[in-house]
Amino acid sequence: MSNAFTFHMSSTCRGPLTSAKPQLIDELKRTIRDVKDFPKPGIVFKDVTPLLLNIPLFGQAVKAMADPYRSAGITRVVSIESRGFLFGAPIALELGAGLVPIRKPGKLPAATQRVEYALEYGTDALEMHHDAVQPGDRVLIVDDVLATGGTANAAAQLVAGTGAAVTGFTFLIELDFLKGRQRLQGRRVEALLHYA
Ligand code: AMP
Repeated sequence: MSNAFTFHMSSTCRGPLTSAKPQLIDELKRTIRDVKDFPKPGIVFKDVTPLLLNIPLFGQAVKAMADPYRSAGITRVVSIESRGFLFGAPIALELGAGLVPIRKPGKLPAATQRVEYALEYGTDALEMHHDAVQPGDRVLIVDDVLATGGTANAAAQLVAGTGAAVTGFTFLIELDFLKGRQRLQGRRVEALLHYA
């Protein structure tokens, strides 16, 4: 399946995750907590910690996030610090793939590759162990929230720099109004919950 086709599918039909049961979507939206003005004024923070306490619901969310990629031949799940780890680890187990953490600079112990990316003010950076992903790997990138897409796009650059294929992304939450999906253009993007 070509990238152009998968992007078309994802951007217009939103892909298989929209077929997740409406009851599951409703229950997840009721469980995830909005925290206003965190970490700074004007931000509504999507707090997933109540979901982590609800074992059956957490399990259903993980399975639903993995579902679109079950036949995609994923060999590595790359998850983004820090809440991405909470979903990346169980999704890697679901898909029978190795788990790779992407972290803020200075946190990973062995030799790393680094990517810098622009924030609203200034720049930030992410690192990945240099030997964690190899050419020929098929990589799924996982995070809790897709907002502006800057973080996920940086993770994709890091993976692509190794010669591996970024097969797609899966998020628990997409903040549609921030249009982060546009920055990931050309790649398959799946999200379980959408906020307009
Ligand atoms: P972005 O690079 O703008 O797409 O931001 C994505 C990263 O920031 C993810 O790792 C999220 O965990 C975090 N993030 C951004 N906005 C929110 C939000 N409203 N609630 C919770 N996490 C967020």
